Amino acid sequence: MASRHLDISCGKCGEFILRYRKDGSGQLIRLYLDKIQEPKSLAGLKSKNKKSQVPSLLCPECNLQIGHPMEHEKSRLAYRMIKGTFKKSSV
Ligand SMILES: [Zn+2]
Repeated sequence: MASRHLDISCGKCGEFILRYRKDGSGQLIRLYLDKIQEPKSLAGLKSKNKKSQVPSLLCPECNLQIGHPMEHEKSRLAYRMIKGTFKKSSV
């Protein structure tokens, strides 16, 4: 499957949030922690194994909430992205 990199930025203030490796096309509804490339603070979350250890995804600049921690199929941690709070661009 083809993958590409996406930069996610805050929909409110434009601050860079993270870089993500996405497989396939389509909307970004779930963002899997193990595919976050940057920054290190978020990429390091893939070492967590419980949803309760993962903080909400916030804009570092204006604190807008971008995503909620979730567990996908009971094992894989992800963020459920909040529609309309972020912008994405291909890298
Ligand atoms: Zn912001």
